[in-house]
Amino acid sequence: MDGCIYCGLSLLDWKDRGKIGCAHCIGFLKEEYTKFIPFQASADWEPPSHFPSYSAWKNLQSMGEDVLDRIDSWALPFSYRFRVARNPKHSIYPKQNRTNESYLGWFLDDSGFQGSNSGKKLSDPEFKERIPWNSGTLVAGDEDHIRWEYVTDSLSELNSILKSDFLSKFEAEDKFDFQNGIGFINSCPTNSGFGDKLSVSIPARLADSGELRDFRLPTDWGFYREELKDRLVFFRKNFGPGRKNSFFNLVSYLALLVISEKDGSKASFEP
Ligand SMILES: [Zn+2]
Repeated sequence: MDGCIYCGLSLLDWKDRGKIGCAHCIGFLKEEYTKFIPFQASADWEPPSHFPSYSAWKNLQSMGEDVLDRIDSWALPFSYRFRVARNPKHSIYPKQNRTNESYLGWFLDDSGFQGSNSGKKLSDPEFKERIPWNSGTLVAGDEDHIRWEYVTDSLSELNSILKSDFLSKFEAEDKFDFQNGIGFINSCPTNSGFGDKLSVSIPARLADSGELRDFRLPTDWGFYREELKDRLVFFRKNFGPGRKNSFFNLVSYLALLVISEKDGSKASFEP
């Protein structure tokens, strides 16, 4: 068979769009799909020992989790974003807005829901497809998946959010498309696995003015420039619960380079 019997996706559709139409598509695409899922590193990322300021970074890390408060106290113009993306189980991805809405209802039934929309029925005309939930935002309708986004300027806040119990709602394998060996399935393979993404956004001027001339992005990370806001965004997908420290390590290294350049104390930095 050269297509998916459930959603009709053909090999040509896949090559054109790079997205599948349902979880069954993986049955005929196999590694054509799975090879694009971001790999799980065997250990947390750390700056290699030959990187500039490596020993200062090691010193900083010896503070343990207090390092996050320390970085927050520097008040750098950094912003952090976490998102997790899911597709409802047994759905056809481009055509599932109604399903997504009912899934938003499932999230909101939770006592953890806080916000001005509390108590509103999803059929209300004012119902928005962006709803506040647990200090972040549930989003449906603009892409094929449902996602929850959380944006903050505080690394320490981000850390406690990532440990929050309410996130376990996204781990319901019976509610979302899930396959052993892959994890959660999304139309785009780069969003599959844990379906998560962490990013740090910094003013582009930091890269232009030399503070970051020694910074090297790990090769499995991506970046883009937000022209309108004149910011650079560094991101990686598929951390999973076990590799989030890679993100905190990268951000703390980045922050250290910026602050040491500012202080002119690169060599003598003490935590
Ligand atoms: Zn399909």
